[in-house]
Amino acid sequence: MRARRESAATTSRPSEQPTVTPGFGPCGTRRRPAFPLRTAPGPVGSRRRLGRVTIMRLALFDLDGTLVDRTAAFADAIAGLCRDHRYGPDVEAWLLTRLADHADRSDFARLRAEFGLGESAEHLWRVYVDRMAAAVTCRPAVLHSLGLLKECGWSIGVATNGSSDIQRAKVRATGLADLVDGIAASGDIDVRKPDPRLFELAAARCGTQLTAGDWMTGDNPETDIAGGHRTGLRTIWVEGRLAWPEGLTVPHHRVTNVLDAIDHLLTHSPG
Ligand SMILES: [Mg+2]
Repeated sequence: MRARRESAATTSRPSEQPTVTPGFGPCGTRRRPAFPLRTAPGPVGSRRRLGRVTIMRLALFDLDGTLVDRTAAFADAIAGLCRDHRYGPDVEAWLLTRLADHADRSDFARLRAEFGLGESAEHLWRVYVDRMAAAVTCRPAVLHSLGLLKECGWSIGVATNGSSDIQRAKVRATGLADLVDGIAASGDIDVRKPDPRLFELAAARCGTQLTAGDWMTGDNPETDIAGGHRTGLRTIWVEGRLAWPEGLTVPHHRVTNVLDAIDHLLTHSPG
């Protein structure tokens, strides 16, 4: 799997890099040096430093289907797990169906009971976590664009529904850990998006509080976009995987690719 990621890195096309106007920085302002990004949490509605006001923005992202390609990794991980344990096609089909959208430890307890497997549910979950971490990827162009976003004064957080261990394993394995200021996984507090408390936890993990002008980007209309609206965030929907439900409040912006979402955020960078 490492070879696959390295291959992806070497085949990244220049056209995937964000466009920067000559003489100007990626933030839409004159190029300037990167500056320290973290500030202590301040009162709601402001992020201040001593001496002068530093306007910072918080960009929250969903993980699966937004920053990383879970779908592509999933089939590889299941195939590898079944190969490791010499499970037949019936087990593989069960896993591919039951874990298609979401997986946690309890799924492997059910698998074990269904097929009378000898391995413990905890062992199978660990193998699945390791296999997913090895298979999942974040495109080099996305990592590059997130780096630009940080240079332009944004804090970057991840708000994700999923177990803490597997979501953090993906963030580490893809290189996102070097760029993300804080992660809130629903498994941390047993609260899932669209509950505003998960977005608030993501902000806290970034060392700040939610403020007017912060954004949420994700591929799920209900959990990411409706949840973001309910929390008072501006929202970007990465369309493609899920249909937009009739009657749901529309996002502030919609894109077909997370790179375009980051470009949009760059145009709203702190001035
Ligand atoms: Mg998603």
